[in-house]
Amino acid sequence: MVKKNDTYIVKIEDMGITGEGIGKVDGYALFIKDAVKGDLAEIKVTKAGKNFGYGRLMRVIEPSENRVKPKCPIARSCGGCQLQELSYEEQLRYKENKVYNNLVRIGGLSDFTMHPIIGMDNPYNYRNKAQFPVGINKNGQIISGFYAGRTHSIIESDNCVIGSEINSNIVNIIKKHMSEHIIEPYNEITGRGLVRHILIRVGFKTGQIMVCIVINGNELPHSGQLVEKLKKIDEMTDISLNVNKEKGNVILSDKIINLYGEGYIIDYIDDIKFQISPLSFYQVNPVQTEKLYSTALKYAALTGNETVWDLYCGIGTISLFMARRAKRVFGVEIVPQAIADARQNAKINGITNAEFVCKSAEDIQTADMVTPHPDVIVVDPPRKGCNRVLLDTIVEVLPTRIVYVSCDSATLARDLRILSANGYKVMDVQPVDMFPHSVHIECVVLMSRK
Ligand code: SAH
Repeated sequence: MVKKNDTYIVKIEDMGITGEGIGKVDGYALFIKDAVKGDLAEIKVTKAGKNFGYGRLMRVIEPSENRVKPKCPIARSCGGCQLQELSYEEQLRYKENKVYNNLVRIGGLSDFTMHPIIGMDNPYNYRNKAQFPVGINKNGQIISGFYAGRTHSIIESDNCVIGSEINSNIVNIIKKHMSEHIIEPYNEITGRGLVRHILIRVGFKTGQIMVCIVINGNELPHSGQLVEKLKKIDEMTDISLNVNKEKGNVILSDKIINLYGEGYIIDYIDDIKFQISPLSFYQVNPVQTEKLYSTALKYAALTGNETVWDLYCGIGTISLFMARRAKRVFGVEIVPQAIADARQNAKINGITNAEFVCKSAEDIQTADMVTPHPDVIVVDPPRKGCNRVLLDTIVEVLPTRIVYVSCDSATLARDLRILSANGYKVMDVQPVDMFPHSVHIECVVLMSRK
């Protein structure tokens, strides 16, 4: 019987869906954070359940050939990355297997083409957005960094290896300004203090930079001086405050006070222009987003005569991508601000054949979609996947092709099973690595009418 506090030497045979190593003691599985497939490791049992347990990695006795030294010094404690100790090649294999296994086991699929995952040439500094919580350490110094996994204690770091290199410079200017003017960071427990988060966004194509400081108050002391210092950074385009006086985990409120700039930065995905405000949703990995959307476009096989519906369209990114090659595109999205952004984005690109509807996707009726009849329906739902009502509507509407963009291969597989049983066949599956070093994986799937 495996018990809490027992120590064992185990071979790590596999890796779980959240990135832990899995080792077995007499057939009993233990999940071990920070252990890598192939390691021979000394572990200590931290929790022993009926069917499986958890262990802490005490020592790597013989490292896996796929174990690498993480670039980031806080890779283990930070909640952001789960796979930094696994070589990038193996991360890609891990993600391919995860998708394939879900499609076969949950989706019951067998006959489809699974394309090799599209990885990144340089899987670092890929994120265009960073949100640093600000706090204070034991010595009373102002710190910023990242939350440790599942907690709200801040692990100090101003140099995240998956973020933009400019971030640390900006964060340091703000921290210095706070020390000089004795501006206190926010304290989540007492609800006192001013500065909560620093949000930075960088347009990778344009270089434009946006800084938004989230405060628990109506103004930031001596903000004019801070703006002058931040403006010295080349490409600084927009500086704002976000007023958030609510307790809780939500980082941004909808109240923005602009200090400098027009309230947005510009970026491009392929040759489509986007205006991004601090509150806009925008894909965080622009390099891979282009590959993801190009695949979706390829699968849509547009010739210029088609009607496309893009459900869960966000700010219209995929809709606008497709509009250039389709006759008409309809985007559907539940968040009103995203729809407003989508319309604005259509306008600044001179795209006139895309219309946007603010509605829940499951409220779309078959009748809404029949004239003109959709040739292609694209869905890009959140992690929970498509609602059953929507899947039934899609099947009734009978598009020639369905392009499913997914950020969770388990719910994807569940939905593909339903569509497969109702007249559609999965043709191609293309995983794209949008989030190197994390366990997340994005996929594009093409389904055709049988
Ligand atoms: N396709 C977009 C956004 C995908 S994210 C892009 O690539 O940028 C998923 C989107 O679905 C979010 O914008 C979210 O607001 C929206 N959403 C969530 N539930 C929804 C629902 N029930 N109906 C319509 N949209 C929904």
